[in-house]
Amino acid sequence: MKIKKRKTVIVVLSIVILILAIAFFISPYSTALLKSKSHFFNHPDNDIVLFEPGAEEYADSIANYIATAIERVEKVHGLPFEEAFKIYVCSTQKSFNEFAVNTSAYPIRGTALLGNVFIAPSAFDFMGIDTHKETLKHELSHLHFQQRLGFIERRELPVWFSEGFADYVAGSGGEGIEESDAINFILSGKHFIPEKEGSLFGSVGSALNGLSGPMFHQQVKMFVAYIINSDSLKFKSFIMKIREGGSFSETFNTIMGYKIKDKWANFLLGLKKRGSN
Ligand SMILES: [Zn+2]
Repeated sequence: MKIKKRKTVIVVLSIVILILAIAFFISPYSTALLKSKSHFFNHPDNDIVLFEPGAEEYADSIANYIATAIERVEKVHGLPFEEAFKIYVCSTQKSFNEFAVNTSAYPIRGTALLGNVFIAPSAFDFMGIDTHKETLKHELSHLHFQQRLGFIERRELPVWFSEGFADYVAGSGGEGIEESDAINFILSGKHFIPEKEGSLFGSVGSALNGLSGPMFHQQVKMFVAYIINSDSLKFKSFIMKIREGGSFSETFNTIMGYKIKDKWANFLLGLKKRGSN
């Protein structure tokens, strides 16, 4: 009987390990790991920046701005970066998409992946706007959380928060969307869900709730800015505290002094007043 039980345990464990291995090998992490970065050149003026042949001008712009971007991100996050990192500037969207495993036609501008940042050509021409400075700061904000939080703790941040905060830090998001349009959308019920907690499989795609990317980012940026502007000192403590992990909503309640759903209700009330003025 004991041997039978042990055999069952071994079989179950083997299946679990096999499923985990398959999940890893079809995940963006393994694809990004397998794509070689050996063809990238070091930027002559800044050893953080590397670029693919053909991306020299993009790399120059990134190298010129990297110090300012790091300063801004460290200031708002309240701590310096913990580990060294590189910025890989891609010459084509195709190459970037392979690193970022973007299989959609959406021109993703950057990603923080495996401890580094990748920048796509679309960052320099997104809907006709040069957004490379904003893209760089946005991805550095994600990287900062990645360095300071473990994988699980990071997933505990709701997507609306990590994206809205990155947009707040970077001044990114909402390109082509007027604030008044975002307010009209929110007041007519077409808005993101201000979830209490993040989830293990949370992603921007799953958080859109039917919104376009720019509309989603405009809305989450407005809500996060509203939270920060209502008490920036408490928010600073909150940002420090969530690095310790644990429940996002409980930390929010304890440090900020109110529930996310109550803050959302006040946010809506404020928008209604603005709309009626
Ligand atoms: Zn983002």
